[in-house]
Amino acid sequence: MSGVLVVAETRKGEVRDISYELITAARALAEQGGGPVRVLVVDGDPSAVAGGLGAEGVEEVLTVTSPRAEFEPHLQAEAVSAAIAALEPAVVLTGHTVDAMGYAPAVAAKLGLGFASDAFGVAIEDGAPAVRRGAYGDRLVASLAFPGKGTTLVMLRAGAYEAAAPGGDGDGAATVRDAGIALDASAARTEHLGYREAEAGDVDITKAPFLLSIGRGVEDEDGVSELEQIADRLHATLSVSRPLVDSGLAASSRQVGQSGLTVKPKVYLALGISGAVQHLAGMRKADTIIAINTDPEAPIFQVAHYGAVADLFDVARALPGHFA
Ligand code: FAD
Repeated sequence: MSGVLVVAETRKGEVRDISYELITAARALAEQGGGPVRVLVVDGDPSAVAGGLGAEGVEEVLTVTSPRAEFEPHLQAEAVSAAIAALEPAVVLTGHTVDAMGYAPAVAAKLGLGFASDAFGVAIEDGAPAVRRGAYGDRLVASLAFPGKGTTLVMLRAGAYEAAAPGGDGDGAATVRDAGIALDASAARTEHLGYREAEAGDVDITKAPFLLSIGRGVEDEDGVSELEQIADRLHATLSVSRPLVDSGLAASSRQVGQSGLTVKPKVYLALGISGAVQHLAGMRKADTIIAINTDPEAPIFQVAHYGAVADLFDVARALPGHFA
C-alpha cells in the first residue's frame, strides 16, 4: 500500500474548495514519504473539472463518469471502493462534509479500513498514517494510529488546511485519465430533487467590514437584544457562534464557522466565544481579531490580535460609538 488518494467534491459542475484543501494535506503526506498523490473525481461530466484538480503535486487525476449529474452517495461509494481496490493507497482523504458523510464511513466499514472522521491533521509518522482530531468538544486533541490497517480513510475538516491553487494546462500538469470504473445507475438509491437556496438573511455578514460576534457567553434573549443595540450604536453587524443559532437566539444567516459562513471583516470583535476549531474555520482570516472572554485559557486568544480577560457586557457597554 502506498500513495494518497484524494476524493474530490463537485457541486453544480464546479470543484468545491474542500478538494483543494485535501490536495494540500495530501501533498504534505507525499513530502513525508506518503507516496504519489492521485485525485479521484466522480461527476456527471468529470472532464469539465479534472484539469483544475491537477494542482501542483498531483500526479494523476482519475475520472469516473457518473450516470447522475448530481452527487449520489451509493454511486460514490461504488466508485471510491473500486478505486481503493485498484490503487491500494495507504491514505484516502475525503472532506468531513455532508456529501462525504453519505459514503465515506460506509466504505471504510465495508472494506475494513482504518478510519477517522472530523480530523484536523494527518501526517506520516514512522512510515504510517497518524491523525489528529478533537475530543470533548475540542478541549483535548486525540492522536490516532491505525496499527494493522493497510489503508486508512481520513475525513478532514474544512478549513484545516489552506486550499492549493487549482492546476492549469502548463508543464507539469497532472495526467488526467479515465479510471476505468463503470457505474450502473441501478446502484443509486436516492434521488436528487433539486437545490433550494437558503432563505435570504436580513443581512449578509460576509460583506460586513465590522462584525460584533457573540457566543454562548451571552445566555438569553435580553443579552442578545442588548448586544444588537450596542452593535447598531457601533455601526457593526451582529454575528454569532453556532450555539446561539441552535438555541433559537439568532438566525442561521448570522452564524460564523465551519457549518455557517466564512467571513473576513476588517474587525472581528468576539464576545464570549471560546474559539472552537469549527468557529475559527470561519473567521481566522479577519484582518483584526479582538477577543473578550472571562477565561484566560480560551483558545480564541491564540488567534486574537488584541484581547481582554473581562466580562463581555462590561466591555461592550463601555465601547464608544466611533470604535471602528
Ligand atoms: P462555548 O464554547 O461554550 O464558549 C463560551 C465562552 O464564553 C467561554 O469561553 C466562556 O469563558 C465565555 N464566557 C462566558 N461568559 C462570559 C462573559 N460574561 N464574558 C466574557 N466571556 C464569557 N460552532 C460555530 O461557532 N460555528 C460553526 O459553524 C460550527 N460548526 C460546527 C460543525 C460541527 C460538525 C461541529 C461538531 C461543531 C460545530 N460548531 C460550530 C460548534 C463548536 O464546536 C463549538 O461548540 C462552538 O463554536 C462553541 O461556541 P461558543 O464559543 O459560543 O460557546
